[in-house]
Amino acid sequence: MEQPNTSPTWILSVAARSACPRCGKGKLFDGFLTLARQCDVCGLDYSFADPADGPAFFSMMFMAIPATAFGIWLELTYEPPLWVHAVTTLPVMLLLCVPPLRFLKGALVASQYVNKAEEARFTIEPRTPPETPKRPSPP
Ligand SMILES: [Zn+2]
Repeated sequence: MEQPNTSPTWILSVAARSACPRCGKGKLFDGFLTLARQCDVCGLDYSFADPADGPAFFSMMFMAIPATAFGIWLELTYEPPLWVHAVTTLPVMLLLCVPPLRFLKGALVASQYVNKAEEARFTIEPRTPPETPKRPSPP
């Protein structure tokens, strides 16, 4: 069996192409951000993938700061009416924050696959009664 590619460049590569993290050829998404059920080339089941709100978090951390800085700069420099922010700051914020979501989600899913990360499972093993020492049979 072929070993999966685990390099960071592989993760970034499949994330940029929105491709399957195992084969790199199949589609990862069925829509803009909805994951497909499985890879249409190698059949990898994507049910392991659960990036939760990770893509939104990273998008907010890296893109919302410059977008907010733009809005603050616009306000402090020109003191425009509110509708100017609605037609400039809001689109800037959407354009900076929404498009990276697909790449970030693909990178997190690929990273999850490559690192075999999954939710912790706690199972309780059934207890077996300790073996009792056999007593010697009475004479
Ligand atoms: Zn695949």
